[in-house]
Amino acid sequence: MEQLLNLIDGELRPALGGGWLDVHAPATGTVYGELPDSDQCDVELAVQAAHRAFPAWNALGRDGRSTVLLRLAQAIEDDLEGFAHDESRDNGKPLSLARRVDIPRAIANFRFFATAILHFPSEAHLMDDVAVNYTDRQPIGVVGCISPWNLPLYLFTWKIAPALAAGNCVVAKPSEVTPLTAFRLSTLCEKAGIPSGVLNIIHGLGPKVGAAITAHPRLPAISFTGGTRTGAEIARVAAPMFKKLSLELGGKNPVLVFADCDFDEMLKTTVRSSFTNQGQICLCGSRILVERSIYTKFRDAFVERVKALKVGDPSDPTTDLGAVVSKGHMENVLGYIELARSEGGTVLCGGERVQLDGMLQEGWYIAPTVIEGLGPVCRTNQEEIFGPVVTLQPFDGEADAVALANATPYGLASVIWTRDGQRALRVARDLNAGIVWVNCWMIRDLRTPFGGVKQSGVGREGGVDALRFFTEAKNVCLKL
Ligand code: NAD
Repeated sequence: MEQLLNLIDGELRPALGGGWLDVHAPATGTVYGELPDSDQCDVELAVQAAHRAFPAWNALGRDGRSTVLLRLAQAIEDDLEGFAHDESRDNGKPLSLARRVDIPRAIANFRFFATAILHFPSEAHLMDDVAVNYTDRQPIGVVGCISPWNLPLYLFTWKIAPALAAGNCVVAKPSEVTPLTAFRLSTLCEKAGIPSGVLNIIHGLGPKVGAAITAHPRLPAISFTGGTRTGAEIARVAAPMFKKLSLELGGKNPVLVFADCDFDEMLKTTVRSSFTNQGQICLCGSRILVERSIYTKFRDAFVERVKALKVGDPSDPTTDLGAVVSKGHMENVLGYIELARSEGGTVLCGGERVQLDGMLQEGWYIAPTVIEGLGPVCRTNQEEIFGPVVTLQPFDGEADAVALANATPYGLASVIWTRDGQRALRVARDLNAGIVWVNCWMIRDLRTPFGGVKQSGVGREGGVDALRFFTEAKNVCLKL
């Protein structure tokens, strides 16, 4: 049994209350370790340590902090295989994906913000013969970061890297469902030279640890990624305290396929955008909207490709889909497939749990599922499922496509497939979404603003937006 520990004030330690929670391996459905069942007392200890550490960390300056964060990036890279194995074991995702995407991206997050802070611009505004104003962007102090289970280290570091680079100290909470790589990261901090108390990682349940971070009066900014319902609860608690909030929430992303697209490229990419990481990426397209003239051609070709995907052992390099993250989540996704049937949908492929052999018999696997025959307003097409399930809907013309795409409470990401450049620009403009990909998916430039509209969240991460979030702007006016 692996025993995971909190990182508080540079020390790896169990929860003060002494409780433990089970951690499961989705591939086998078995318990492989335990994590601290922390509470507000652990959070309090971490907040105090972080406040003690803040003046020296801030005083280290951009260059000093950059050097330390680059060392941490290197330490992860030196242990890439270990991190990738842990991520796959903890989350159920294919090892090949963790190796290719999750861990390299976590390293890139540290490298990007460690260097971005060196180029973080400041502004000056000259008032002729009167005064000069300059904007001083100072770190907030100590901030809270709360992350989900789907891209565990990737999203955890997407928050803590800019927070630390900007000069803040951090009290961070990874998901209790996938705590392993955050723990592995905490074991590298001392060697990388992160001073005690600068980064504190508290494990445990959302309603205990996450809620204590949200409500803590000495954490004036909270960066959260997770479900919309949790985001609403965090906003409810934090708003009367006037905390700065960044909320990256759920999605129900449309993929708009026009008849004039590059069909082969679209087909290949749409299989990926539907089922990568078992469909558990907030950017996955879950509603595929297809121009009626190619609907049948698309449906038949897509279903044939999806049927050929291999659901299997996450450590097997030929596996396309591993396990979904938990038993509860598997049951939730299967429940949505039943709902789709009861709403009149036709399951074209998948639609059930996959039972593998031997050690993997009790693992949480779902066959990639394609559903057609449902209108836009049913629950299946309105609610986030966050698993290997997509629906198909035909559309007639551009206006219809945009109306269908925008017909949910969410607005995170969207994909447009067309060879008509003018149309791409028009549709991109009219989509209610924070992110639009045209003829591609998941090409990520870390300088770009990342986030959603409507119930997909508030605020933007990435590049200058993240550094601005983790600093407070002060205008200084000097009379000439
Ligand atoms: P979740 O909301 O259940 O949990 C996210 C984190 O919040 C976890 O660390 C959890 O412990 C914590 N938490 C739970 N209750 C809390 C509370 N009351 N107060 C404070 N913290 C609390 O989400 P999840 O199931 O871990 O992740 C899946 C969701 O995340 C999906 O909805 C997905 O779309 C979303 N997501 C969004 C993005 C994005 O960038 N917009 C990225 C990835 C995932």
